[in-house]
Amino acid sequence: MSLLTVGSVAFDALETPFGKTDKIIGGAATYITLSASYFTDENNLVAVVGDDFPQSMINDLQQHGINTDGLEIRKGEKTFFWSGKYHNDMNTRDTVDVQLNVMENFDPIIPESYQGCTYLMLGNTAPAIQRTVIERMTTRPKLIVLDTMNLWIDIANADLMTLLPLVDVLVVNDEEARQLTKEYALVKAAAKIREMGPKTVIIKKGEHGALLFQDKLVFFAPALPLEEVFDPTGAGDTFAGGFIGYLAKTDDISFDNMKRAIIYGSAMASFCVEKFGTERIMNLSQDEIQARVSEFVKLSAFGLQ
Ligand code: AMP
Repeated sequence: MSLLTVGSVAFDALETPFGKTDKIIGGAATYITLSASYFTDENNLVAVVGDDFPQSMINDLQQHGINTDGLEIRKGEKTFFWSGKYHNDMNTRDTVDVQLNVMENFDPIIPESYQGCTYLMLGNTAPAIQRTVIERMTTRPKLIVLDTMNLWIDIANADLMTLLPLVDVLVVNDEEARQLTKEYALVKAAAKIREMGPKTVIIKKGEHGALLFQDKLVFFAPALPLEEVFDPTGAGDTFAGGFIGYLAKTDDISFDNMKRAIIYGSAMASFCVEKFGTERIMNLSQDEIQARVSEFVKLSAFGLQ
């Protein structure tokens, strides 16, 4: 089934306890579409970059089967830039610099060929832009998944509140869930978010896995205990890309299938953190992905005897 992803395509500069990068390719939609490309062939991207964005990276996206007809390249303008520095625990980070550049007045144009897509992934960007995308879809996708971040909960709360009733699944991390609901306990936070609109809530807990809530149902997916976490940037987006990519591939949005999708998302995220930026998720094989999913199955399987 077809997937449309909207979000940032960016330059990032990162610093972790293991090293530092100059400007490398990043952006929420970059990680999402790359991750989803291992699951679905109909992978459509809407984003904006400046003419400083390398054509070689656009070629790489296309080689992953990603349709870039909706990638606007603005002449004479610069690509969105984000810089972050991780603390020693690798779970927390500070934003060192943000330059909105082309994102400042991003007007998401949906190419006619993208209309009718079945799955919509609204990657991290301003809630008003995410809402515009929904309004511009001539038919409502079967499933709309939304990602957001602390910044928007802070500065665009009213926009976010009008957007939440329009989406099916919200993906946030534990701190964002607490910030959004003012509830510390995640079970209560998830219940409050569900009252705000999305029937399904996914709360990511970094190296401690992810929780899936729907009605009275709860599922917990662990994160793989990795020897080395090199760079957590994009892990959340890669998780979301694997999640929605798997749903688009199987075209089954039941709770049971969402459990499997969360495991695939977690497996993809576990690759992402092994190298800086998008490097590790550029060239994965289906065998590697399946092997990692099997490790997840083993990780928490047990018998009572
Ligand atoms: P994650 O580590 O999954 O939270 O995502 C990191 C990516 O989010 C980076 O590649 C950044 O380029 C992107 N990002 C950071 N801040 C923003 C923002 N305000 N809007 C859109 N994308 C952002």
